[in-house]
Amino acid sequence: MRLARIRRTPEGPVELAAALDDQTLISLRDVDAGADPVAALDRLGADGLADETARRAESADRLTASDVIFQTPVASCSKVCCLALNYRSHAEESSLDVPPVPVLFFKPPSALIGHGAPVRPPRRTRHVEHEVELAVVIGRRCRDVPEEDWADVVAGYTIVNDMTARDLQLESMRRQEPWDHSKAFDTFAPLGPFLVTPDEVPDPHALSMTLTVDGEVRQRAHTGDMVHPIPKLIADLTDGMTLLPGDVIATGTTAGIAPVRDGDVMHAHIDGLGTLVSPVQWAN
Ligand code: MG
Repeated sequence: MRLARIRRTPEGPVELAAALDDQTLISLRDVDAGADPVAALDRLGADGLADETARRAESADRLTASDVIFQTPVASCSKVCCLALNYRSHAEESSLDVPPVPVLFFKPPSALIGHGAPVRPPRRTRHVEHEVELAVVIGRRCRDVPEEDWADVVAGYTIVNDMTARDLQLESMRRQEPWDHSKAFDTFAPLGPFLVTPDEVPDPHALSMTLTVDGEVRQRAHTGDMVHPIPKLIADLTDGMTLLPGDVIATGTTAGIAPVRDGDVMHAHIDGLGTLVSPVQWAN
């Protein structure tokens, strides 16, 4: 299942929808009152939602992806857990050592935006960079999850672009201060387009991903190159910290981070998960 949260108009209600193909969506609007893909999966399962989608596909309530406004594919999210330097190539380009244990920072849920929504850097930064990453969406409240049970707590996967005000981040690092600020601005966490269920992603460590800006490939990577793979990340994050349904784990980026300019359009693509498109609109 590829599940989305969409609006038909800017002021319209948010609806749950399932993708039949790259262009066709089926509205599942009365299946879950909260238009919450994670809650709907918990209640009906991927099979139940697939049956409901097939049943509705025979009726007329089809939507075209290019006609709707995508929201973030999670309805509620208490935290976006981001991994730093989880790909060797990105650590090398940053002249930093690969950390022996996962290095965590947070983005606030207020930074999340959906597919197609613009990234709007604030005036206080002049240098903003993209970071395409595989995002893991948590499906149930969990703590102290053993590595071997990691799959039990995953609702699905999507794409996140960990936008970073690099000038502010490097200044914070020079001062040996935390650098969350450079990551936390509104619109700095494009997420989507879909929540893709695990049955469609048999191996999340076997996915190719790219980030292009106006057709130029900037980042190209394979999720098998993660330093700390997803089972270890989930075990480490939940060792003492509760993850909630809708929480997002951004699993780290690869080499090729580069600045964006006003008017650029970023395409973050991961095989099987789709393409997350984000135009850039500078505040001035
Ligand atoms: Mg990152």
